Amino acid sequence: MGRSGGVTALLGIDYGGTHTKVLLAHERPSGLERVSAEIFRTPRSETALSELAGLVRGLVRSDRPSAFGMTVAGILDDASQTVVTSTNTPWLNGRAPARELAAQLGAPGVAVHDGAAAATAEAIMGAGRGRDDIFVLALGTGIAGAHVINGSVRRGAHGAAGEIGHVAFGTGRRCSCGQYGCLESEIGGTRLGARWDEERGAPPGSTARDVVDAARAGDAAAVRVLDAATSALAQSLLGVVALIDPGAIVIGGGLARSPKWIVEPAVAKATERATFHRLPPIMAAELGVWAGAWGAVLAARAAAGGTNASVLGQIRRVG
Ligand SMILES: [Zn+2]
Repeated sequence: MGRSGGVTALLGIDYGGTHTKVLLAHERPSGLERVSAEIFRTPRSETALSELAGLVRGLVRSDRPSAFGMTVAGILDDASQTVVTSTNTPWLNGRAPARELAAQLGAPGVAVHDGAAAATAEAIMGAGRGRDDIFVLALGTGIAGAHVINGSVRRGAHGAAGEIGHVAFGTGRRCSCGQYGCLESEIGGTRLGARWDEERGAPPGSTARDVVDAARAGDAAAVRVLDAATSALAQSLLGVVALIDPGAIVIGGGLARSPKWIVEPAVAKATERATFHRLPPIMAAELGVWAGAWGAVLAARAAAGGTNASVLGQIRRVG
């Protein structure tokens, strides 16, 4: 099972709160090849995993995977593979979803934290490939960071490292975490919209996308809001460089998809403000919304007996 003509099939499941992405890849000497990929509405409730197993079987058909990886949005106890808490998928709380799914799919599987999966994929086979020390920053509603060294995320003594969104400067606005002046309170997706609404006296409800669109159309308030946000991001980039001196910084997440308004100005400001810092290459992420699913494929690969660290820089997408 799992091999046909010497090819190993690996399955990545990026299990999100609203959508689930499933990606089937073949491992070939030249790299990992995408065979098929699909996005489903996430099955919810107690029977979610049985439904998910059915959807996966429909996608893989006779090409049964040697192993699968599955992302979990929330706190995961790696040793027991149990979901401690997940706000977006609460029906998984207290369960070991990869074990349950493994029994239904008849293949071994492993659960991984969604942010760690996406960061690992970007570092190993996305924008960071070929380098062994990468800091990955995800700019979304929340801001997450991950330091990927030799293909593994440095989790920290309590599994809590990488919270760059909540490194506080002590002044400025109050963040949802209770501190003042966090990066997330400046550039977190929902904050950008709220800041623009405040700035022009409009009722709340704008999104980050709206702000970027308005700036593009010449709206001065939107330009000011983005200017403040990219200044804060520049300061955080300098902080990352001062603290860990990474070989590259990769910026992903929804906000990174408007590079002209977010990533490029932040990098320009960081370059201008740098004093002792040695800025590494700072690049936009390459895997887009599929980063988590590729990260799950890499976890599957490790579960099937391959180790990612030994092939750093050699894993390529060939499809
Ligand atoms: Zn905070």
